[in-house]
Amino acid sequence: MTDKIENVLIIGGGPAGLAAAVYTARADLSPMMFAGAPYGGQLMLTSDVENYPGFASILGPELIEKMREQVKHFGTKVLDQNVTKVDFSQTPFKVTAGNVEYRSRAVIIATGAQAIWLGLPSETKLRGKGVSACATCDGFFFKEKIVGVVGGGDSAMEEALFLTKFATEVHIFHRRDAFRASKIMQDRVLSHPKIKVMWNTEVTEVLGDQKVEGVKLKIANKESDFKLDGLFLAIGHTPDTELFKGQVELDEKGYMLTTAIAALSGKKLNKLDSKYQTATSVPGVFAAGDNVDHTYRQAGTAVGMGISAALDTERWLEENI
Ligand code: NAP
Repeated sequence: MTDKIENVLIIGGGPAGLAAAVYTARADLSPMMFAGAPYGGQLMLTSDVENYPGFASILGPELIEKMREQVKHFGTKVLDQNVTKVDFSQTPFKVTAGNVEYRSRAVIIATGAQAIWLGLPSETKLRGKGVSACATCDGFFFKEKIVGVVGGGDSAMEEALFLTKFATEVHIFHRRDAFRASKIMQDRVLSHPKIKVMWNTEVTEVLGDQKVEGVKLKIANKESDFKLDGLFLAIGHTPDTELFKGQVELDEKGYMLTTAIAALSGKKLNKLDSKYQTATSVPGVFAAGDNVDHTYRQAGTAVGMGISAALDTERWLEENI
């Protein structure tokens, strides 16, 4: 255990955590960040980012490096380690990483989420080279191209409809004979002239060497090749919140509940004034980014929430410590 009690520990080194670090560092709170190993989150697996304000085009890892330089410039202590244990049952809060127990007056959780992938080696090899899990981010690169979408939920419907703005043909590959998406979304997809659905269809391999050239499909135990330029996975996301189970309140899918999110369903999450919109069920523990947000999931929205969490933390420390 270290002797020092920190003002704020930030868990997570993606855009939300980094934005929280900039603000808490500039508020003289000397934040310490556990950025994870490997650090940086989902942007490290992204190639060109063209929708982050201020950069017409920047590589995902380059954007993360710029944010890291900025937080270090303002004095954030960044440890590229994974947190292995937390104890929020009493104050100061305890956070363990690299077998060292740290203590802190406040904590910001920004551990993010991960897209679920099919788990094919060819899919991993071509990630960022035509394989993507975010049509909002990468759809623009497929103007006048043929793309595929895997999945049968609302995300798959949304991604397919969005892709019709760019692609000439959008093919949905779904493993069953019925979608689980809401009726209205299904209707939009099924009546769209650019979208075709292939039912009972599994993608067993992504074809191509330097970029996606097609997929291998399995239909009724028969395999065949299908030519396309891009493949979008829309088979769900998992928030990185396992560590916090039993410590702060999570929703039924494992996303962290904050004052703002709980209020949407008329629920009061904590004893705090509702001005702390990013507060979790434990006063003094705040949350931001994709571990909270399963709706927008953008680097920009994560940054915004990270800033809100930093401002909430600063005010909460002023008023409560
Ligand atoms: P989801 O509802 O869990 O759907 C995942 C889809 O992926 C399912 O159709 C599933 O097939 C398929 N799938 C899962 N694993 C697969 C695998 N290994 N191989 C092939 N297919 C696989 O996830 P989601 O679409 O991301 O939605 C998550 C939540 O957000 C839902 O509650 C959804 O309603 C909500 N959402 C809402 C909106 C909106 O209202 N605009 C937009 C997006 C998401 P099976 O059907 O066979 O299980």
